[in-house]
Amino acid sequence: MNIVITGAGGVLCSAFSRALAADGHKIALLDLNLEAAEREAEGIRKAGGEAIAVQANVLDKESLKKAHDVVLEEFGPCEVLINGAGGNNPKGTTTSEYFSKEDMLDENARSFFDLDQDGVSFVFNLNFLGTLLTTQAFATDMLETGGCIVNISSMNAFTPLTKIPAYSGAKAAVSNFTQWLAVHFANCNIRVNAIAPGFFATNQNRTLLFNEDGSLTPRSHKIISQTPMGRFGKPEELLGTLRFLIDNDASGFVTGITIPVDGGFSAYSGV
Ligand code: NAD
Repeated sequence: MNIVITGAGGVLCSAFSRALAADGHKIALLDLNLEAAEREAEGIRKAGGEAIAVQANVLDKESLKKAHDVVLEEFGPCEVLINGAGGNNPKGTTTSEYFSKEDMLDENARSFFDLDQDGVSFVFNLNFLGTLLTTQAFATDMLETGGCIVNISSMNAFTPLTKIPAYSGAKAAVSNFTQWLAVHFANCNIRVNAIAPGFFATNQNRTLLFNEDGSLTPRSHKIISQTPMGRFGKPEELLGTLRFLIDNDASGFVTGITIPVDGGFSAYSGV
């Protein structure tokens, strides 16, 4: 199948790209960071797979249109779209878990009242609007033939994590949009689902999870103690769920769901 993956230069989506290429699919690796996407595409080609790297900004319709044109020309219509581009930003993040007046007086701290409007918009747009705009650009290919869309949500979508209101709200919107779009496209034979990864150690969260010396931060200890399986996930542990969702024989009647892959995090009350 022709598969388009955004954020494909990143940790999780590069793993998706390699695995699906090894399964025999043609992979268009879209990323704002062309160098990263090209590096991954090159690796896939060297391993005997079919892949192209395409620069795309999921927040820019013109850029997405150009990327769509390239994919159409190189591979043909998109049959599977994986909306992986996403992330957080410090400007949409509070310093403390619980409100403290001291943070308001400390110029190095960010209290709830200091959250930056542009920072919050950036995070919300990257995760939610980036998913919507990319779907507008590529799902047109699926209207006649059917197809499959997989969005990437997060644990934050079920219950928000402390400190990151913008990212939590944006991922909740991604899960909600997954349901909306599944219903909207139900009679076009386009299935729409999402994966909600638990905690995977990647670039995006490295400074939250590890101290400079590589030891676990207090936040990491909290995460691990709330994860019944007692560890972070490995990117390859998302692959089975991804393969299931894009396989019409296996999941042809599955649409509108968000599947947690989280070592039990979302099932655990903490007691
Ligand atoms: P990552 O930072 O390694 O990769 C994200 C990629 O998205 C980067 O290559 C970046 O260049 C690209 N990107 C950023 N802005 C873009 C834009 N405007 N247009 C196109 N590409 C853009 O992150 P990751 O950990 O691999 O995360 C992938 C997805 O999984 C994200 O949606 C993230 O929110 C989600 N997620 C990650 C975790 C985790 O534990 N790592 C957990 C839950 C959800």
